[in-house]
Amino acid sequence: MRTPMIAGNWKMNKTPAQTKALIEDLKKMQNRCGAELVVCPMTVSLAAASEALKGSNIHLGAQNVHFADNGAYTGECNADSLKELGVEYVIIGHSERRQYFGETDVTVNQRSLKALEAGLKPIICVGESLEQKQQGITKEIVCMQTKVALLNVGAQIENVVIAYEPVWAIGTGLTASPEEANATIAAIRGAIREVFGAAADRVRILYGGSMNAKNAHDLMAQPEIDGGLIGGAALAAEKFDGVVNFN
Ligand code: PEP
Repeated sequence: MRTPMIAGNWKMNKTPAQTKALIEDLKKMQNRCGAELVVCPMTVSLAAASEALKGSNIHLGAQNVHFADNGAYTGECNADSLKELGVEYVIIGHSERRQYFGETDVTVNQRSLKALEAGLKPIICVGESLEQKQQGITKEIVCMQTKVALLNVGAQIENVVIAYEPVWAIGTGLTASPEEANATIAAIRGAIREVFGAAADRVRILYGGSMNAKNAHDLMAQPEIDGGLIGGAALAAEKFDGVVNFN
């Protein structure tokens, strides 16, 4: 009942010209497993991406959005501009934003509410640090992050995607085992159910953290895992192909 999603987070990579070239390669790729595909280039490459994606089934995502409509927020980007460029999804609260740019659960909530108000679908990232994992508090941490991020979301919950990304697995080559990721995602869904009831079963929850062609099949076979948020393996068409065609 939940359409799988494979989303590429290109982070601070790919100039507009490189974005266009990668999208031309991705458009030639088969999509045998039928997941919804999303690419999330840098803000400055979104216009080139939007143009290159015309007529394709690949959706466009941004990597952040501000919570104000306009104003004195140098370096930020508002939701209306993203909409105007044809952006549908926006990653919010990635651990790199939390680590390097002071993003908190509260600002993740504010950005998510603004995205939803503008008709953008947030991909909200949650995940525990290595220290929190070692303390055995993974589920508590991710459930709290999820609940705060979703404060006042109401009926718009159906337009939210959650990405469970253990911080220790991002860009490290380490992954949560499929069973471990499944259990944590089940806990996140339980937290959503506590607030939003049965709608929780319609919310897609992705796994992210060194997902690649080798581990995608086993991760995607888990019942609670609805797709992947892919960093490193999204930057070359042949690598992304191995994730997209995970079966
Ligand atoms: C990410 O940045 O969201 C991510 C999952 O990165 P990687 O796949 O490189 O671990």
